[in-house]
Amino acid sequence: MNSNITLPGLEEGNILDTEVREGIYYIRWELERASHRCPQCGEWTNKVHDYRTQKVRHPSIFGRQTIIFYRKRRYKCVFCGKRFFERNPLVKRYKRQSIEFNQVLSLELVHGKSFRDLATRFHTSPTTIMRRFDEITASKMKETQALPKK
Ligand SMILES: [Zn+2]
Repeated sequence: MNSNITLPGLEEGNILDTEVREGIYYIRWELERASHRCPQCGEWTNKVHDYRTQKVRHPSIFGRQTIIFYRKRRYKCVFCGKRFFERNPLVKRYKRQSIEFNQVLSLELVHGKSFRDLATRFHTSPTTIMRRFDEITASKMKETQALPKK
């Protein structure tokens, strides 16, 4: 699908396809192929090894729960044979929620919305919301501790 609309968190890359199924908005998305530096030997490569599809939770778009099917590319280094995933602005390693999801949620948490209310609006459990709240609090404490002494 060719679309001129850019969606938050998906400004880079291409939306391949969208679909609404049972009230949920699904988006297939991938990045442009690009040269990457091999994490093992430091040489550049743009040789594609394969693709994996990763399911990523995203904040609601058009009021609907949104899920991204990220077509994640793996490159292969032609010099040393190392295979590695592309860099991506969508989701951090080992996370199931997008960076954008966590940012939007963080903003809401800062405004003091209740965990239960947010869980409903973000289509997730209060436990997930609480965990995110703890992460934010922990990083805020670190910031405070890192301030220089006067
Ligand atoms: Zn290499």
